Amino acid sequence: MKKEEYIKLLLKLEWVIGLTASISLFTLVFTASFIEMNNIIRVLLIVIGFVIFVVGVLYCIKIEQVAGYYQCNNCHNKYIPTYKDVLLSMHIKRTRYMKCPKCGMKTWNKKVIK
Ligand SMILES: [Zn+2]
Repeated sequence: MKKEEYIKLLLKLEWVIGLTASISLFTLVFTASFIEMNNIIRVLLIVIGFVIFVVGVLYCIKIEQVAGYYQCNNCHNKYIPTYKDVLLSMHIKRTRYMKCPKCGMKTWNKKVIK
């Protein structure tokens, strides 16, 4: 498999993980809210739902960090940011507001495959 295909596959996987995590959270919270059960089990279901969701989201961010590159809007330098930078940056879809390691400017950096 070519590297670009592999990156595209990873980004698709990110969608699947994100969707699965969201659906499990929704399903577990919904079940806990509307079905008769012991309160301890109810709390447990909600906690499990949130744990799955948080782990899923953190995993998605990891994929987004390592799959492909981010391109600086100022100097067009392509780079792989740190996990912390990706985690803490504002974003619109996959475009993130981050500091470029080359020119040091904070701009909206697009995700690029190549
Ligand atoms: Zn730059």
